[in-house]
Amino acid sequence: MFNVQAIRADFPILTQTVKGKNLVYFDNAATSQKPKQVIEAIANYYETINANIHRGVHYLSQISTDRYEAARETIRKHVNAQHAFEIIFTSGTTHGINLVASGFEPLLNENDEILIGALEHHSNIVPWQFLAERTGAKLRVIPMLENGTLDLSSLSEILTEKTKVVAVNHISNALGTINPIREIIAAAHAVGAAVLIDGAQAAPHLQPDVQALDCDFYTVSGHKICAPTGSGFLYGKESWLNKMRPYQGGGEMIKEVTFEKTTYADLPHKFEAGTPNIEGGIGLGVALDYLNNIGFDKIAAQEQSLLEYATAKISAIDGARIYGPDTSHKTSVVSFNIEGVHPYDLGALLDKMGIAVRTGHHCAQPIMNFFDIPGTVRASMMFYNTFEEIDALVNGIEKAKQMLL
Ligand code: PMP
Repeated sequence: MFNVQAIRADFPILTQTVKGKNLVYFDNAATSQKPKQVIEAIANYYETINANIHRGVHYLSQISTDRYEAARETIRKHVNAQHAFEIIFTSGTTHGINLVASGFEPLLNENDEILIGALEHHSNIVPWQFLAERTGAKLRVIPMLENGTLDLSSLSEILTEKTKVVAVNHISNALGTINPIREIIAAAHAVGAAVLIDGAQAAPHLQPDVQALDCDFYTVSGHKICAPTGSGFLYGKESWLNKMRPYQGGGEMIKEVTFEKTTYADLPHKFEAGTPNIEGGIGLGVALDYLNNIGFDKIAAQEQSLLEYATAKISAIDGARIYGPDTSHKTSVVSFNIEGVHPYDLGALLDKMGIAVRTGHHCAQPIMNFFDIPGTVRASMMFYNTFEEIDALVNGIEKAKQMLL
């Protein structure tokens, strides 16, 4: 039995009222809320062990280094990476993708191609456009279908010996679509391309196994998995990380520096220039422990029930259209519009009722262009949400419709 009330008691923010109403937080795809275990870990870090890591001989520095490196090991275990040095701490998915795109610059030329999906977040589009501009390589796109899934029918034509990198998200933030990444990874490897999986929206709902997936890179944002903002990680296969150019230069990432030449530190430090977000990394480890303690099987089952309930209720509203595939091919995101209602107006009225949803293009403008809409209203749920909250959302939509239509 999933005890949602016990879980909600771990999230202090969920108990508050907003605009005189109980907060209903359905903007989890933008960022998740944090359990008190994570909040306390951050306070505890500053109250007891704050010190810069890796460099210090003193007690506090050694403890904070140990805690930071223990978090790296927690992440390694969680994603089943072979080595802890294949886990690079980042500030989030955007950082991870930019790191890889920049690292590939010396490896690409104007005869090469980069392939991305049509369902990408802007952070998995723009860094590749930069890379294409800098190297002369061509950016190509796997098209999408009307049901909000990728169209793999032409993959064998788009993916060729010229393709050097393929970057797709595991799960779309705008629609919730779960992409067939195993198939894409296998096809990409067959032509020798490296594959980056943007796992920003997958990590909150499932436990990725990077060795089973055989992806070359996997990026995660801490703030979407109950960890502090500004934390995150990139998994990268040792062989690729060794070939790539470092992303930022500075302290920590060097072996030896002279004015003539610098040699780089071993992995993972080669990609971790400067003082990192130490409490963020430690908090990320605590957040993963928290989620694993509940269990991703339980989390996924609960979220699937919430998704099915919300989908049935919202699709029963007159004039509602839900974008994206059916509930068996997506995670707990309902991206919808009500005929004759601008998504922003609906979002603003729901806000007055204490209900937090996201409206707009969700940093995925090409998807909105595909559907020829300005945006959608997106209700994204996590395991701590309840069926009563979905009822409140549906009542809110009906009320808003009466005011707007
Ligand atoms: N990719 C996807 C699929 C996302 O949902 C997001 C965040 N909305 C990002 C990338 C970017 O993540 P961040 O802003 O945490 O770097």
